Amino acid sequence: MNRGQRAKLFIPGPTHVHDEVLRTMSEYPIGHRSEEFSELFDEIVQGIRKTLFTDSRVYLGTCSATGLMEAAVRNTVTRRCANFICGAFSKRWHEITRSCGIPCDPFEVDPGCSIKPETVRNALESNRYDTITIVHNETSTGVANPLEEIAETAHHFDDVLLLVDMVSSMASVKVEVDKLGIDVALASVQKGWALPPGFALCSVSERAFDASSRVSNKGYYFDFRVMDEFARKSQTPTTPSIPHMYALRTQLRRIFDEGLENRFRRHNLMAERVRQWARKNFRLFAEKGFESDTVTCIDNTRKFEVSDLLARLLEKGYLISGGYGPLKERTFRIAHMGDIQLTEIDELLDAIDETIEEIER
Ligand code: PLP
Repeated sequence: MNRGQRAKLFIPGPTHVHDEVLRTMSEYPIGHRSEEFSELFDEIVQGIRKTLFTDSRVYLGTCSATGLMEAAVRNTVTRRCANFICGAFSKRWHEITRSCGIPCDPFEVDPGCSIKPETVRNALESNRYDTITIVHNETSTGVANPLEEIAETAHHFDDVLLLVDMVSSMASVKVEVDKLGIDVALASVQKGWALPPGFALCSVSERAFDASSRVSNKGYYFDFRVMDEFARKSQTPTTPSIPHMYALRTQLRRIFDEGLENRFRRHNLMAERVRQWARKNFRLFAEKGFESDTVTCIDNTRKFEVSDLLARLLEKGYLISGGYGPLKERTFRIAHMGDIQLTEIDELLDAIDETIEEIER
């Protein structure tokens, strides 16, 4: 592939962006206190609510997901937070919580394993915590945590708030936020939403919003009360990335054209296809029964250099990911999220087969 040509993205963010979405980002800006802006804001918020199956508050952030991870803990923890860790991104949330000066404890399982409801129950039985953080889809290991069971367990404990990072599952996997009683569900847009990076969004429950009024020193930019004051006027507190909002509106319309259930099914089919291929040729890194529908992490049992595979595939116009952090050479990851289609997955898998044959020849 020559410099300047675009490789198709099969990495777990940023993901492939459709041309129609890209084009809308170059629309002429509008004033963020105008009526036209409020119409844009309202359409986006309604679309997000529909996608997340929620009637609760929705806030938009001109930031990546990490900003809203910080916002979530800063607005809600009044006593102590339990951070459940099963990989790099759930560990990051613990680091974020700690670095905000919020009392917290890590509960960690081995990479590749999921968080079990029993682990959550044991932690909450100590009565020390009023908030827990969970990463729904641990992008570093390809593990999908059992969110429904975890939520059910957490709700046995009154007043424990459930904060969920849905960064690499939102808009790809069905999660019914209100039914599960998720207090904060957050994501950035460069993964399942399939937009360029630089924007994020979250839903906030009544309980989480109430907690926010009891917490002090949460800063200004990410204060839920401030965000809400402006959201009531269909605005954001500060100047947002309007190009992202145009793109999100276009993408929401495209998502509803496809149909939410069709979209979720497509992701499951793509994941099944990749898993089948990976089981035949390698081994899945994720614990059986907890494999993600948006990113597959493959144990490199054939012991070739992952960096060699990545470089050769890039030459052919495909970008996949190596392992994350300490798993860099041990695993590689294929993302099947956002606007990627099953035919493109088949094309990619053929290219990987051909490349591995070259490597092992
Ligand atoms: N959480 C998960 C599960 C992720 O996969 C990522 C990024 O890959 C993040 C959090 C951080 O997101 P961002 O880079 O948008 O801040």
